Amino acid sequence: MTLNRRAFIGTGVAAAAALSAPMVRGQGKPRVVVVGGGAGGATAARYIAKDSDGAIDVTLVEPTRAYYTCFFSNLYIGGFRDLSSIGHSYGTLASDFGVNVVHDWAVGIDRDAKTVTLAGGASLPYDRLILSPGIDFVEGAVPGWDVSQQNKMPHAYKAGSQTELLKAQIEAMPEGGLYAMVAPPNPYRCPPGPYERVSMVAHLLKEINPTAKILIADPKAKFSKMALFQEGWQAHYGGMIDWIGPDFGGGNVSVNPDEMTVDIDGAVEKVDVCNVIPAQKAGKICEMAGITEGNWAPVSGHTMQSRMDENIHVLGDATNQGDMPKSGYSANSQAKVAAMAVRGALTGSKVFPAKFSNTCWSLIDTDDGVKVGASYQATDEKIAKVDGFISQTGEDSALRKATYEESLGWYSGITEDMFGAS
Ligand SMILES: Cc1cc2nc3c(=O)[nH]c(=O)nc-3n(C[C@H](O)[C@H](O)[C@H](O)COP(=O)(O)OP(=O)(O)OC[C@H]3O[C@@H](n4cnc5c(N)ncnc54)[C@H](O)[C@@H]3O)c2cc1C
Repeated sequence: MTLNRRAFIGTGVAAAAALSAPMVRGQGKPRVVVVGGGAGGATAARYIAKDSDGAIDVTLVEPTRAYYTCFFSNLYIGGFRDLSSIGHSYGTLASDFGVNVVHDWAVGIDRDAKTVTLAGGASLPYDRLILSPGIDFVEGAVPGWDVSQQNKMPHAYKAGSQTELLKAQIEAMPEGGLYAMVAPPNPYRCPPGPYERVSMVAHLLKEINPTAKILIADPKAKFSKMALFQEGWQAHYGGMIDWIGPDFGGGNVSVNPDEMTVDIDGAVEKVDVCNVIPAQKAGKICEMAGITEGNWAPVSGHTMQSRMDENIHVLGDATNQGDMPKSGYSANSQAKVAAMAVRGALTGSKVFPAKFSNTCWSLIDTDDGVKVGASYQATDEKIAKVDGFISQTGEDSALRKATYEESLGWYSGITEDMFGAS
């Protein structure tokens, strides 16, 4: 006889067993596990815990105790922030919002059993899983470089010790030395990030080593806010920055970390600092869960659900979602859509149509801030751009200062939104 669900529950002993078995989900509170406590994951954990008023059990898995934001990490390099001002802890999420914060790595996901395995050996059951692990690097993307070389040639594309190291290397450059950046191909985390970084490196060098030079090897013919950066570089750092695009071999690069050389289309340069930002892909746990297609995890913009598993939502940089850039602002915006969808699915609360927004500010020099942004809506195919805006070349200094000040307010706001405290 085949036991269908109704027949199974209807048979005395078996029904009692079913009711007492821990496998029967939904008897206690529904459980959400969030992997990754960054812009997407911390926001999602906080919103689900806060808005469900304790009706959902939320566990956040994050290996680090202090999360250093990549956003404003370039400003640390430029000397506009100190490192502690971009470090945040998870204490308030636990104390004020009741999130179970577990400091560990997620190392496996069993989608049939709906469990997450941690490096420490624990297994966490979930009704819904949220993955927001950020990025990892594509192996072999820059010949001569792999992650084991990151202390010689830092990426500083995950903030914290890498950012500190890069800044220390820049400060230790010999007079008139050369800083090289190997820029990444699209799509990658924070489209204006490499170019804001170059601006901040130039700002620092102008103060401490004004005859130093900056070289960027870039596989892209165009980059985010290109006209604005190029105008600013000319105005503030004339002659210091040399950008080599693909027409001049900027896409044909290898490095030798032992020799501290960069080979750009056959021309070998000896460099003092080499900031390698390789091609990127979704954080490895997405691959391990089997929810990636190519380098990224495809999702539906309506709910941020994986297109491969409706019990998993993916946020932020790891996703292939459509038109939104990979930014902290985007990840935070997507997290709120996912949090609403998860609460709706688990508690029946009302779910509104998904809307998203993003703004990316960049600082070119003191009080010279620029921005680009847009609003988005979910369609069945993707998250689609609705309308956008961008700073203009030639803007007056008062507007640029106001734009920079706006970014300070945004930073306080988003970090408070993520962690419940700034
Ligand atoms: C130099 C630079 C400047 C930037 N500036 C801006 C800016 O001005 N504005 C802006 O909006 N964005 C900016 N960004 C982009 C922004 O930092 C990212 O887009 C954003 O952090 C993405 O959020 P996320 O949640 O996807 O990933 P993250 O914020 O990186 O969070 C991922 C978290 O997951 C954890 N994790 C990974 N794997 C596992 C695992 N297996 N188990 C448990 N935890 C795991 C990591 O430890 C990490 O804490 C910048 C980025 C860079 C590099």
